[in-house]
Amino acid sequence: MADEHGSTAYDSHIEGLRQTEFPQLQDEVYLDHAGTTLYAKSLIDKFAADLTSNLFGNPHSASLSSQNSTSRIEDIRLRVLQFFNADPSEFDLIFVANATAGVKLVVEPFRGAPGRFDYLYHEACHTSLVGVREEAANSLCLDDAAVNSWISGTDPAARFGEDSRPVLFAYPAQSNMDGSRLPLSWPEELRKTESMPGRQTYTLLDAAAFVPTSPLDLSSSETAPDFTVLSFYKIFGFPDLGGLIVRRQAASVFQSRKYFGGGTVDMVVCVAEQWHAPKTQALHESLEDGTLPIHNIIALDSALDTHRRLFRSMNDVSAHTSSLSQRLHHGLAALKHGNGQPVCVIYSHPSLSRTPESPMGNGPVVTFNLQNHLGNPISLVEFEKLAVLKRFHVRTGGLCNPGGISRALNLQPWEMKRNFSSGFRCGTENDIMNGRPTGVIRVSLGAISTSADVEKFIAFIDEFYRTQRIAELTPPIPTSSPGDSLDLYVERITVYPIKSCGGFRIPAGTQWEVRPEGLAWDREWCLVHRGTGQALSQKHHPRMALIRPVVDFSSGKLRVSYQGSWPINGPTRISVPLSANPGLFRAGVPSAAMASRVCGEVISAQVYTSSEVNDFFSTILEVPCALARFPPGGLGTSMRYAKAHLQKHQKVNKTAQYKIPCEFPGMDTPPDSDSESERQRILLSNESPILAINLSSLHVLNEQIAQRGGKAVSPEVFRANVIIGSSASEAQPSAYSEDRWASLRIGQQDFRMLGSCRRCHMICIDQETAEKGEEPYITLSKTRRFDGKVFFGTHMCHIPSTAMGTKEAQFPTITIGDKVVVDPA
Ligand SMILES: *Cc1c(COP(=O)(O)O)cnc(C)c1O
Repeated sequence: MADEHGSTAYDSHIEGLRQTEFPQLQDEVYLDHAGTTLYAKSLIDKFAADLTSNLFGNPHSASLSSQNSTSRIEDIRLRVLQFFNADPSEFDLIFVANATAGVKLVVEPFRGAPGRFDYLYHEACHTSLVGVREEAANSLCLDDAAVNSWISGTDPAARFGEDSRPVLFAYPAQSNMDGSRLPLSWPEELRKTESMPGRQTYTLLDAAAFVPTSPLDLSSSETAPDFTVLSFYKIFGFPDLGGLIVRRQAASVFQSRKYFGGGTVDMVVCVAEQWHAPKTQALHESLEDGTLPIHNIIALDSALDTHRRLFRSMNDVSAHTSSLSQRLHHGLAALKHGNGQPVCVIYSHPSLSRTPESPMGNGPVVTFNLQNHLGNPISLVEFEKLAVLKRFHVRTGGLCNPGGISRALNLQPWEMKRNFSSGFRCGTENDIMNGRPTGVIRVSLGAISTSADVEKFIAFIDEFYRTQRIAELTPPIPTSSPGDSLDLYVERITVYPIKSCGGFRIPAGTQWEVRPEGLAWDREWCLVHRGTGQALSQKHHPRMALIRPVVDFSSGKLRVSYQGSWPINGPTRISVPLSANPGLFRAGVPSAAMASRVCGEVISAQVYTSSEVNDFFSTILEVPCALARFPPGGLGTSMRYAKAHLQKHQKVNKTAQYKIPCEFPGMDTPPDSDSESERQRILLSNESPILAINLSSLHVLNEQIAQRGGKAVSPEVFRANVIIGSSASEAQPSAYSEDRWASLRIGQQDFRMLGSCRRCHMICIDQETAEKGEEPYITLSKTRRFDGKVFFGTHMCHIPSTAMGTKEAQFPTITIGDKVVVDPA
């Protein structure tokens, strides 16, 4: 076993492999072995050589190529059994699509048994095993203690298996949530137990999370589970294939499987009589329905060879990953805020120590949550934004492990249901409910992880999530009062006619109309994916920045051009009329309104039919997409409301009049007003009608970026509508004064502030080149993070004038150079 800092020789061996075998890893820090797979270059080369030098036909025929496949597959089946020390006379291997398919194949005969079956499953089970309960006559979820008392014949499941119903007991060898390991001795104990005479009890071991970093030894058929499922891609990266290992003594179960398919029968009679003869020679022959994934199975040969050559043995992998996770566990546990509060709440056990709570040790997994110095959780969504920029690959969320998550987070069923009904779903921004996390961060170390990865990750958490001096947390309150003395004016006005595409700068001297939904022509169009209807975002398609629309009133057109430096195969400009010509959209309004989604919200957008228009965008972005329009004045799903609201950091002592709906730190809050009439309409912008930024704040930010050795960013990255400059000699006094603005007067028009703008790493895309960097998000996350969220800029909406008689009231406009007067909170 390696020492606490790992066997340096093996670690440097892996470092070397990273250069040659995993070129895709050079700039990435890969800490998600359990969730993402990586191919070794020599595996793919070896497989390619195998494929191009042999002919592999569909098995079950007499041709030479077919025979070739059949014999190779049987050889590989044996090799895989040997990889797990399983004697082929005691075990058979059935190839399946993945571990989940293996589970479903096991359940099939149980479902077909008279009176079905009873199902017991451990609380650490993956969702794919939890779902089995829906097929069972009775089911029960057990923790460790309950399993042990069931095995020893006392409750809670004593009546399970009565009426000669078979009992299936499922559990993971290792939890995919926190890496905890469960006793491999349970199958044997169950077989030996005297208390269940005559009951047919079977064990299903989910080894999918265990086998990638541990040897699984099935050398004794007496102690082995009846059924073991796993996914090969989790061990080798490739191929996408799963396995079900069946203990032959349990094979008779499959007699009650009803289905048969091509490949699993010897003879079928259909006409006049219904009769069939299942294959009987080998168990796997009677269970592998249809054509086997021949080439995937063939690839396993290369995978087994390459794995042994690169990583030597599973024992080596196990020792290496255990020592890495031990170091990570210690490193994270040692991080403390200035007031002594731990930075990480860790749910996993240290992997090398066997304690009474974890007698089996722990897999090389560290699952945890971050908390601030007050013990409040840090949002996982926010953590991910930073982690992505820093190229850390880690998994966050519920991890398909409902029991493990509720145990770790101490979430009761009613809380999970309440969270669900109040909008929490896998993958939403709302990941903290009532001050408690709803998911976790999971680091899982694999064969190719190195101590450098671990050290980088600890340093990252230390730099961004540990607060040494608590005083640092208080937002810098501007010293002078945010009033007239700042000499503010409108420096620039920009609209973004197509959501997430380039901006159109309003020419100087143009009076630009302000509407209740925002500036005229802002975010009135979007691009939707032709398959899903989802609006495309620059976050995933940075090239959208290179698509530049111009609102051209003289021709009555929205002219769109492509401004990228690499050539595209097609026209570089198109235009569509500004007028809403119904003939351009999918026929038959209102069914023309295709269900599109913007930020998860279902909207009815009008989708253009012109292939010239749609191909233009699709070619640039290399995504099948279509242009869609969301004109103002719609009803129902043709209208949207603002979501922006005041943030807690904007509250200063003397302005206690603010209603702060946010009861708990980090919790997302509803808009300030819910009443229909007061709610603020928007078009396709994410949160609010108008976004403004203050150049003085940007100036200070750029100074801070420079101090960290970074390059200044331009105001464009924030994609604001109104850029406010100051003619005061110093930027400092007015920097971030916008946090305290209650309303603004721009020229003749009044605006109400709706709260700070929460940011994501999309602000790291250079709007000129579409290239991604780290700034300004990284610096902002140090200087402008409140309640775990990063803010820059301010949302606002127009306040229509009540004085009807004037031109300014009837046709409100703003223009570059307009004086900006602040009404402080
Ligand atoms: C990944 C995993 C599964 C599911 O595997 P699939 O290949 O997606 O079917 C099941 N159980 C555990 C413990 C896992 O880690």
